[in-house]
Amino acid sequence: METQDKFARTFSFEFFPPRTPEAAGKLKTTQETLAALNPDFFSVTFGAGGSTRERTFETVIDIREKTGIDAAPHLSCMGALNDEIKNILATYKDSGINRVVALRGDLPSGSVGYGQLRYANELVEFIRQETGDHFHIEVAAYPEFHPQAPNPQSDMKHFKMKVDAGANSAITQYFYNPFAYYRFVDNCEKMGIDIPIVAGVMPIINCTQLRRFSDACGAEIPRWILLRLQEFGDDRVSIRKFGIDVTTELCEELLKNGVPGLHFYTMNQSEASVEIWKNLGIHKRER
Ligand code: FAD
Repeated sequence: METQDKFARTFSFEFFPPRTPEAAGKLKTTQETLAALNPDFFSVTFGAGGSTRERTFETVIDIREKTGIDAAPHLSCMGALNDEIKNILATYKDSGINRVVALRGDLPSGSVGYGQLRYANELVEFIRQETGDHFHIEVAAYPEFHPQAPNPQSDMKHFKMKVDAGANSAITQYFYNPFAYYRFVDNCEKMGIDIPIVAGVMPIINCTQLRRFSDACGAEIPRWILLRLQEFGDDRVSIRKFGIDVTTELCEELLKNGVPGLHFYTMNQSEASVEIWKNLGIHKRER
């Protein structure tokens, strides 16, 4: 964790593009509430295969216009032709967007196949080739390793390939074991990886949803957390209180040990993030 201290800390929120007018209305309220906390930026996910291409872009533009805060679209190469990615990058650039989160993406079951670019390192290389240094490029990192990686060592090697291709910083998959993150960062340092590795944070508010996501993305929910959540049953108030306490303590621990930032997976909701930011005292910080 030694080298992560030197990076300026960033605090950010992630949204997904809304599917319905009602969801869009709710997101507007969420983004206004979270903008008041003065984050460094928002990011907006991108459905693999281009399924949210327009909505991702519109959401980013809307956030920037309404809040005056930077917003970064995610971009995934899964199922896309290089010409399509080139057009998306041109649209982003023409609209003054200068930060992207570059990902491979996941195949929606039964739909599109791989695109022309197979992995995120190839996408980062392509973005650099097409647009030079225009974009600040974020990539994904996996302290508990990517579920499809054959072993930790090859996953580390592939992470380094993204950095060598020109990524400026990374955001991790969420995790609840800070030691997995510390170990991951130490390994990165040994491999000469010298970019900020910001911790992705998933506030715990719903047990069923958390289990579903964690099964899919390979994030481990520690046994003691799972057992406590199960014990609460349908008692949402207790789940929420416990979840906010646990997530706050995780963030405190990471901040104490020099994490270069926190990126909150908000699920388009503001309440838990607001509470955790207030607990951490970062809602009043100057940028
Ligand atoms: P990669 O870095 O390409 O890695 C994928 C797998 O392939 C790993 O197992 C890796 O070890 C292996 N690999 C990598 N490079 C090579 C190579 N050159 N040769 C052989 N094997 C290789 N998904 C979306 O669809 N849309 C989003 O907006 C989105 N946002 C995300 C944001 C964050 C911060 C994170 C952490 C994840 C996000 N995801 C998103 C999920 C992500 O797309 C999936 O986790 C996906 O399975 C991997 O994407 P990646 O960019 O990490 O892939």
